[in-house]
Amino acid sequence: MNNIPYTYPLFGQQEINSLTDLLQDAEKFTSEHYTKKCREYLKQYYETEVLLTHSCTAALEMSALLLDIKPGDEVILPSYTYVSTANAFAKLGAKLAFVDIQEDTLNIDASQIESVITPRTKAIIPVHYAAIGCDMKVINDIASAHHLSVIEDAAHCIGAYYHGKKPGTLGRLGSLSFHHTKNITSGHGGALIINDKSLIHRAKIIWQKGTNREAFIEGFVDKYTWQDVGSSYVINEMSSALLYSQLQRLEEITQKRVAIWQRYHQAFSDAEIKYQFKRPTVPVGCEHNGHIYYLIAPTEKSAIELRQRLSSAKISAPFHYLPLHLSPAGSRFSIKQFSLPICENIYKRIVRLPIWEGIELHIDRIIEKVYTEIQGL
Ligand SMILES: *Cc1c(COP(=O)(O)O)cnc(C)c1O
Repeated sequence: MNNIPYTYPLFGQQEINSLTDLLQDAEKFTSEHYTKKCREYLKQYYETEVLLTHSCTAALEMSALLLDIKPGDEVILPSYTYVSTANAFAKLGAKLAFVDIQEDTLNIDASQIESVITPRTKAIIPVHYAAIGCDMKVINDIASAHHLSVIEDAAHCIGAYYHGKKPGTLGRLGSLSFHHTKNITSGHGGALIINDKSLIHRAKIIWQKGTNREAFIEGFVDKYTWQDVGSSYVINEMSSALLYSQLQRLEEITQKRVAIWQRYHQAFSDAEIKYQFKRPTVPVGCEHNGHIYYLIAPTEKSAIELRQRLSSAKISAPFHYLPLHLSPAGSRFSIKQFSLPICENIYKRIVRLPIWEGIELHIDRIIEKVYTEIQGL
């Protein structure tokens, strides 16, 4: 491989076998065999109800419907996140209260949450950036003091731990992504983790186009009808077949990615001291899954320069989110114009390094190139 992409899902015989198995057995296809198997796997893994969806976006949209978000409601979230975290709530009329991030983890700064709570606030949506857990003790305490729901965007998080628990199980609802840029993939795919048992019944209805089809499949009713709002949020069976084989390798993939992450982290320890390229911080109690490795360049100029030089060497090293509050829709849907100084500064300085299973073959070349360029900047 001459061009080193930022991300590259590595499929092997296991993935080929489960897709072939599905295509050779139409009964498995129509009975949603692999979707059921994935759901069982994830229910055991998270020790609660999990519904497979076609994306994390869908799981976030289901969360907003489950909370009955209405025009005029407000939700609190970081600006440094993917569009879907905000869009799922904005499309139901919620106003967005963006909060700044912490410089060390790029997670929502929990100490600033209380200052944006109003009587209209309904939820806090922490995003565990790079699968490094947000300060959930503080966030959950604030939420219970103000009777707010916590909806975790755990898109990055499968395989990670936060003080021994799995991100996605720490709030009322959690959402996962299996998009092909994430650690475990089904192409497009996601899941809703339901930690508040009182939401399970309605979640299944919303999931199945607003019908009680799930109760019908489970044999509780002999026909199903329209019950509530909903949409077609279910994952498709081919995605599930791929996902199932990936889930079998969850531990293997996680270990490999964490090892790559560690290689980078060791390799750049003195770049941090000598050249002020800051490495990620992993707070005590956080066990990430090697989803993202990044460096924060000392200036915007040095970040642009480093990205360009790596790009000339055919190494893809992208920046990440454009802060939502600076986007056209983000400013339209937010409560007011915010100034979020850390977020506005960091997004220009971040440089993500390629990380995927199989990159071991190229890692020495990448590290050497990055190091040489950093020295020359
Ligand atoms: C990838 C991602 C999403 C969207 O996931 P999809 O499965 O593509 O809908 C949402 N939030 C975060 C933080 C993400 O990284």
